Amino acid sequence: MPIINRVADFHEEMTSWRRALHAHPELGYEEHWTSDFIAEKLEGFGIEVTRGLGGTGVVGRLQGRQNSSGKKIGLRADMDALPMPELNEFDHKSGEDGKMHACGHDGHMTMLLGAARYLAETRQFDGEVFFIFQPAEEGGAGGKAMIDDGLFELCDASSVWGMHNWPGLAAGEFAISEGPCMASADHFTITLEGRGSHAAMPHQASDPVLASCQLVQALQMIVSRRSNPVDPAVVSVTMINGGSAFNVIPDSVSLSGTARAMNSASRQQIHDEIETITNNTASAHGCHAKIELFAGYPPTVNHKQEANRASAIAADIVGAGKVHMNLPPSMAAEDFAYMLEARPGAYIWLGAGEAQPGKMLHNSHYDFNDEILPVGTSYWVKLVESEMQL
Ligand SMILES: [Zn+2]
Ligand SMILES: [Zn+2]
Repeated sequence: MPIINRVADFHEEMTSWRRALHAHPELGYEEHWTSDFIAEKLEGFGIEVTRGLGGTGVVGRLQGRQNSSGKKIGLRADMDALPMPELNEFDHKSGEDGKMHACGHDGHMTMLLGAARYLAETRQFDGEVFFIFQPAEEGGAGGKAMIDDGLFELCDASSVWGMHNWPGLAAGEFAISEGPCMASADHFTITLEGRGSHAAMPHQASDPVLASCQLVQALQMIVSRRSNPVDPAVVSVTMINGGSAFNVIPDSVSLSGTARAMNSASRQQIHDEIETITNNTASAHGCHAKIELFAGYPPTVNHKQEANRASAIAADIVGAGKVHMNLPPSMAAEDFAYMLEARPGAYIWLGAGEAQPGKMLHNSHYDFNDEILPVGTSYWVKLVESEMQL
């Protein structure tokens, strides 16, 4: 079967929700208008709503026609926009300066609302479904904030499921992998403290500028020489700050960057290597290093059985030939990782159409592809009806 007919019936209405959300982007933990919009819709469908989890999070709870299986499943969408200007000129462009739904979270919310509406009408399942709308996915760990605030006490889910649109994969096709699909994302700040001097007398200095240049190169050795080449990793220094005059060697320089890995052992190894290499490089220059490592999202790891069930459900909607099980993992990171650490589940990519230059996620010309709304909604519905069959 392709799309569920009843879902196709409200494609136009979903498109209008999606565009309203697009025009009202809100940043992480500021999703007040957005969470009002969602809560109002869910209540309108007759769904019980809990608000304020993890700040602005919203959870809708719906029982099936029967509730004898004891099963509960959580479906998650993200609500936040990005702090960037939108350069599109269509009617539903961002109405907020410097804020934009450039990651398609407007579409994710809409597809989950569409599924909530359909399931509230039909309730063809045995158990309970929780519609989880999380704040602050873009780096603010809003999913973790919801967990810390009692998400899994409210909703003792036996499994959790996530979905993200993916430009570059044909519209309406799916991709999913067993195991790791996105990386951990930690960041670091290193301060190299040396001794400043007149630039004409470098022998009197312990030069943190030269030390930082060598450190950037030395840190590249982690990926090229210390990590197993078949185990993806990223170490990027993305900021260097130091110095105030051409004739002064400064006292200190600071560097910041990101470190990413696909599993916790590699993640720890990278942290250890950053410390060792930094301390040794600093020491070779007569400098002292202060290293701060900030743990971000863990790797997003799909559970094998759930990933296989998700792919079967996707295949049921679009055909097995349009469900890809071998999409390479991405070194981006995803807040849903915390939910997958807490419960079995799977995170699936929904193709948004061939990638056009300048229309990828987090680009000022991006817009969610409304054509795929019924596909994602059908996936959620099928997932609920097959995981909790009557
Ligand atoms: Zn994003
Ligand atoms: Zn996103």
